Amino acid sequence: MTQSIAILGSTGSIGRSTLDVVARHPDRWRVHALTGHTRLAELAEQCRTFRPARAIVGSAADAQTLRGLIGSEGRDVAIDHGPAALCAVATEAEVVMAAIVGAAGLPSAIAAAEAGRRVLLANKEALVMAGTLFMEAVARGGATLLPIDSEHNAIFQCLPLEGADRRVSRVLLTASGGPFRTMSVERMATVTPDEACAHPNWSMGRKISVDSATMMNKGLEVIEARWLFGVEPDRIEVVIHPQSVIHSMVEYVDGSVLAQMGNPDMRTPIAHALAYPERVASGVRPLDLAAVGRLDFEKPDLARFPCLSLAFDALRGSSGAPAVLNAANEVAVAAFLDGGIGFGDIARIVAEVLERVDAAAPAELDDVLELDRTARAAAHEALRGA
Ligand code: NAD
Ligand code: MG
Repeated sequence: MTQSIAILGSTGSIGRSTLDVVARHPDRWRVHALTGHTRLAELAEQCRTFRPARAIVGSAADAQTLRGLIGSEGRDVAIDHGPAALCAVATEAEVVMAAIVGAAGLPSAIAAAEAGRRVLLANKEALVMAGTLFMEAVARGGATLLPIDSEHNAIFQCLPLEGADRRVSRVLLTASGGPFRTMSVERMATVTPDEACAHPNWSMGRKISVDSATMMNKGLEVIEARWLFGVEPDRIEVVIHPQSVIHSMVEYVDGSVLAQMGNPDMRTPIAHALAYPERVASGVRPLDLAAVGRLDFEKPDLARFPCLSLAFDALRGSSGAPAVLNAANEVAVAAFLDGGIGFGDIARIVAEVLERVDAAAPAELDDVLELDRTARAAAHEALRGA
């Protein structure tokens, strides 16, 4: 029996890796829906190859463009557009890969959770913005939530099936340190968007690549871990591990530390979550430890990477603070990628917005979206002063 899958953000880095794994197992998964916001030619190519029932784009004009690009080969693909259509396909398929980047992915990820789907969550921003509400939606809908972020997938694989709260003492999140791990603050102030996106170990979309360079990515992941695994911030430790071979670890009360290892290739966590609790081939080459040679570890430098501290502070602050942090970061990263601000300004703008916006506890999704809008407006104001 094949399972139907909706891949939200199929034109992105995670989306394309997901299709790569799915294509290896036509007996297991059939593509119900593909969605993309840009790169319409690539989406058209995916539609011709995978023949989904539905394809979703951002606007009516894009829908028309996609229709033309797909051509007669894909005339059975129903094309729709907009956030409501994204939420609709997220409830229709048995498996949903939530791989849209940023806050734009939150409503559809929550919709999949509410509908009780098997939710493969790559869109960490959804959990950062709405941790409690998201986990409540998962519980209410009876969804199966499986983490795709490599660290969280690793932790998931190292956790006991039950009794984690009594037996686990700490969660150790590994971080590569990004492309600027050893760079001085002065030199960092002058880096270009392309330098920030040249990650030493992982090939990813541009937003998460910049987040890795500022280490905000690790901060977002600390918040993500807090919600996924119910661990308090004090029991989450970040350790720099430049080789990205250990994807994260779980420490037990008896001193045992379990690590999950592998080559840094997102097809491993994707295949794991797709097939869980079974295992399927992912196309990832076997880990050659002799070639890796050594595994190094160091403490993160919070002075050079203030975004990590900002994220810990937001997690310990009001329950609305992570949504404010996320919105400010999205605006600042977009401005950096556009050449509007320097690399060092990202942390400064996030700090300023966190200071300025009243992050009242959100009671429902609309409150989160409102907080997101307020924080974005404050970030744009801070940009004007930058
Ligand atoms: P990407 O930029 O390569 O792809 C993003 C996808 O989202 C694209 O399909 C794009 O069309 C779509 N999208 C963008 N804006 C949209 C909008 N407003 N509405 C609808 N769709 C929109 O990003 P990525 O690297 O694949 O990352 C996706 C998510 O997965 C992010 O949340 C990221 O943090 C997370 N993640 C990625 C990796 C990785 O290795 N790439 C690893 C861990 C977690
Ligand atoms: Mg990660």
